[in-house]
Amino acid sequence: MDVARLLTDRVRSIDASGIRRVFDLAARLKNPINLSIGQPDFPVPDRIKQAAIEAIAKDYNGYTPTQGIGPLRERLGVHIAEDVGWRCEGDGPGLLVTSGTSGALMLSFMALLDPGDEAIIADPYFVLYPHVVRMCGGTPVLCDTYPDFVLTAERVEPLLTPKTKLVLLNSPSNPSGTVATRRQCKDLLELCRRKNVLLISDEIYDEFTYSESRTDRSSTGRPRCPSPARVTGAEEDMLLIRGFGKTYATTGWRMGYAAGPSALIDEMGKLQQYTFVCPPSVAQWGSLAALDVDMSEEVASYEQRRDMVVRKLSSVTEITTPGGAFYAFVEVPPNFARTASEFVERALELNVLIIPGSVFSSRDTHFRLSFATDIGALEQGLDVLALLMRS
Ligand code: PMP
Repeated sequence: MDVARLLTDRVRSIDASGIRRVFDLAARLKNPINLSIGQPDFPVPDRIKQAAIEAIAKDYNGYTPTQGIGPLRERLGVHIAEDVGWRCEGDGPGLLVTSGTSGALMLSFMALLDPGDEAIIADPYFVLYPHVVRMCGGTPVLCDTYPDFVLTAERVEPLLTPKTKLVLLNSPSNPSGTVATRRQCKDLLELCRRKNVLLISDEIYDEFTYSESRTDRSSTGRPRCPSPARVTGAEEDMLLIRGFGKTYATTGWRMGYAAGPSALIDEMGKLQQYTFVCPPSVAQWGSLAALDVDMSEEVASYEQRRDMVVRKLSSVTEITTPGGAFYAFVEVPPNFARTASEFVERALELNVLIIPGSVFSSRDTHFRLSFATDIGALEQGLDVLALLMRS
């Protein structure tokens, strides 16, 4: 049977060739200096591993409620209240534990986008955003955020149309590490409120925010990454999406959560019931323990690596200091190569693996470098890249 003939326009519209090419190239290299990895390089803390092991031993291996296990929902309620001041109980905002942050994104787009509806996304963007918007029937509208990569109200406003349903903010950002300021978060939320458009804030990297960018405060006074969620009454007008995978190195456990207006969260729960069914049981128990684990040492170590990236590359090219996440989005000096992809191929010949900006953007002028890697390898890789740019 010619199965290809049966495939939908939905899958045909997704082009995964850019990122696949990078993976194929990586597979061909022996022991590359790999600066392309989008997950932490530290081990999962023992306490978290142990909680998951105990869950298996206690036979917590079956389905869970679609919304997530009670103890995790309660603990998350406390965490969200402390961090952004929302009370996810009674008539307050709803809370849904999801299968990864990606699961929360997909369910929210499915609940909000009818065919032709528009979703505004920063360019450069996290690689799956435009594809998932399209998969869910919507139209991604890219908002150019070069050269500082912040999705500001000024940049978004001219793109709003009667078809706009949502604006997607990702701070700290993948691929640039940019952190929106408190003012920028507030202005964007207020614009969305005025125009009756939902703001979705993907804060999967919130713990990875470096000293100078932790300019907001939690309800308990802890310095935190700025979030539109701390604007008074935000819980009625935005969806907060966060995850566990990056913070605790449990990316394979597929754990995230979403909080926001219950009219939306209830529908996302309904969709989850008929798709993912429930988030993974064992991972939920492990993630419950994770919420009491302090990751500040790991974050401080990533801050040192971030400093090294900026120190080594700023003398050879334009680099916007990443305030968070573990990526830098680096411009290839225009006199070096016609495209960033060309530069990436030259770096590959020298055994250094980075990702061309064209995977995350309509431009091919930058590359993404991940510093979630051993500091020795990072130093070596940065020296190769700097030398290459100087040549
Ligand atoms: N959002 C952003 C900005 C990301 O970088 C990633 C992972 N690379 C995700 C969402 C997806 O995270 P998860 O593994 O929790 O689905």
